Parts: sequence; structure tokens; C-alpha cells
Amino acid sequence: MPELPEVENVVKSILKNIKGSKIIKMYILWSKLIRNIDKEEFIKIVTNKNINNVWRKGKYIIFDIETHRLVCHLRMEGKWFFLKNGKIDEYKHSTAVFIFDNGCTGYFVDTRKFGTFDLVKKDDLKLIAGIAKLGTDANDININEKEVFVKISKTSRPIKTVLLDQTVIAGIGNIYADEILFKSNIHPLKKGKSFSQELVTRIIKNSKVILDLAISYGGSTVKTFEISHGNSGNFAQFLNVYQRQNKPCTVCEGVIKRIVISGRGTHFCESCQHY
Ligand SMILES: [Zn+2]
Repeated sequence: MPELPEVENVVKSILKNIKGSKIIKMYILWSKLIRNIDKEEFIKIVTNKNINNVWRKGKYIIFDIETHRLVCHLRMEGKWFFLKNGKIDEYKHSTAVFIFDNGCTGYFVDTRKFGTFDLVKKDDLKLIAGIAKLGTDANDININEKEVFVKISKTSRPIKTVLLDQTVIAGIGNIYADEILFKSNIHPLKKGKSFSQELVTRIIKNSKVILDLAISYGGSTVKTFEISHGNSGNFAQFLNVYQRQNKPCTVCEGVIKRIVISGRGTHFCESCQHY
């Protein structure tokens, strides 16, 4: 599943290809793709509109389309591809195809079909439940450390689970949660209520360092993730614990362990990470 650094790079790729362009025609090839509005209505609203900007909130990709906002979530396998004058049926698993006035054809390709589109009026982003509840992005310079501390310190859930909760901090998924906790020397099972402000500040600082580095390297290519066609991220070389179970720790002489916390594979070093 793409995480914040991957989504950030998807946004960059979309901007490079179609910012300022007009949608002149579009096809919805999988009607369940659109969650909150009728398919025909969707097509009518977006056709002949300009893409004024594309940005990210948490793992949502938001297209500013004049009067409206198209909100895309990639979920497990969603990808955006762009071709000059591409054919409609270029990709077998396209769920939507857009034709732009700059000669670009845009494809939302989704083999597992979990990806979603919502269309809302410009000022109605909060109507999308997932966005209304989102915490501040982990690498946002305006993140309020005290606010995050209050949220973390009132739960008895393990910190690994808390970091994946997008209402506490947005944009941290499984790979980066493991890497952030390793860099912070914190055991993934340590309970939220045992955290001090200092520890929370350490987590936030390391989240920024790791996510910004991952963004600059195009994200981590794990399983099938690609930023755009044939263009994979190469942050994976910097992973210290994620999917390195039974391998030696990069810091001490310990061995990386794998346990399951709230259903998610969790990788850590018992000697470096403390309760
Ligand atoms: Zn270690």
C-alpha cells in the first residue's frame, strides 16, 4: 500500500503532466470507483474544467477542478499513468481515463479496484469522513507537538497502532511506523499512556526526517508500487528494520524480530528499542 512519501511523489508526477490542463473528455470504466455521486453527473461536472492544482492531505490526492474538488485515494494498488495521445484501452486494469487538452491521456489503473474517487464542491472537503477526522501530516512543519502528545498519552494502545491511526498523525503507514520507532529507540508495544512529551517530540522529529528522506528518494518500492509507469521509488535501500526479520540490526549486534500488532507485521530490534 502506498504511504505518504509515495503519494507525495504521485502528486508531483500528476502536477508535472497535467497542471493547468483542461479535461476535455473522460471515461469511467468501473462505476464503483466513484463513491458519493452518480457517474454521469461526475463526468458532466469535470468535463471542460481546468486542473488548477493537485495536492495531498494525508494519503488523499486532491485535484482542484475550478468549482469542485476530486478526491482520489489509491488504497492498495491504485496508480496514475500518463501518456501522450494514449489509447483508451492502453491498460487492462484502468478504472478511469481522462483526455486532457495538452495531448496527455491520464489513466487511473487499479488491479484490485479498491481505489476511490469522491467529487465535492470546492468548500466541502470536510464532507469526506476520512478527511474531516485526519490529524496533521507527520511531516507538516506546523504540526502541534502538544496536541499529538495529548492524543497519544490518553490511549493504552501500543504506539505502533497509534502511529497508524490517521486521526492522531496523518500519513504514517506500516513501513514508516517501523522505521520511525527504530530511529526513536522506542519499542513498538510501548503503550501510548506511558509516553512523555519528550518522547512524542522525538517521534515527530524522526517522522519528518524519515518521511522527507523517503520523499526525496521517491518512496520505497515494496511489492508492486510504482510512482508512474516504470518509475519506481528507491528508498528501500535505507530501510533498517522493515521486512528485515532475522537479519542483523544495522546499529547493534542484535537480530531484527517480527511480531504482529493489531494485525500488522511489525519489525524491530529488541536491544535498540525500549519500553
Ligand atoms: Zn539493534
